[in-house]
Amino acid sequence: MICAGLIACALSATPPLLAADSQSVHASAIPASQDEFLGRFMDYYVRWAEGIEERGQATGESLDPDQARLAADIGIKHAERVRLVYVDEVPFPTDNPEIRAAGEKFGFIGPGIINNAQAFGYTIWVREGFSLDRPRLAHELVHVMQIERSGSFAAYARQYVLELMQFGHEKSPLELEAYDANRRYAG
Ligand SMILES: [Zn+2]
Repeated sequence: MICAGLIACALSATPPLLAADSQSVHASAIPASQDEFLGRFMDYYVRWAEGIEERGQATGESLDPDQARLAADIGIKHAERVRLVYVDEVPFPTDNPEIRAAGEKFGFIGPGIINNAQAFGYTIWVREGFSLDRPRLAHELVHVMQIERSGSFAAYARQYVLELMQFGHEKSPLELEAYDANRRYAG
């Protein structure tokens, strides 16, 4: 088999991983080939995300004092590192066709999927037009706290994707923890 890239290789060797009805698949039940595919996708994605984090650190806005207090309250140890980056579109490595295919497979991108905001470490990327009010900021700050708690973006991202596959977006423990902050800081 001739492979154009890691992901193309993995894709051609792997049956569809995430069909719409596959969210009930338990993470431990993922066959080795799918696990390998996930590993290859994540390796690429994490390296790419490190570049995004670096860019966001250079171009983003620091939190204002009120937002910094919220970050500390949520449990972020280094609130001074958090940056908000406003963009037309929250980035995803769609330039790479293999990764694009994998992103569609995982449900990260595709028709009808709009990513409003995402944390890549200490940088929170926000789609212009998405109003980042206090509950929504609290939600994203919880993801920053989770990344900090995980010790690395790589560890967090892997856990995130495994939970996504096992529970679906709405019931994944990392998302439930973040949505809890929407409610706590709604007032
Ligand atoms: Zn979230």
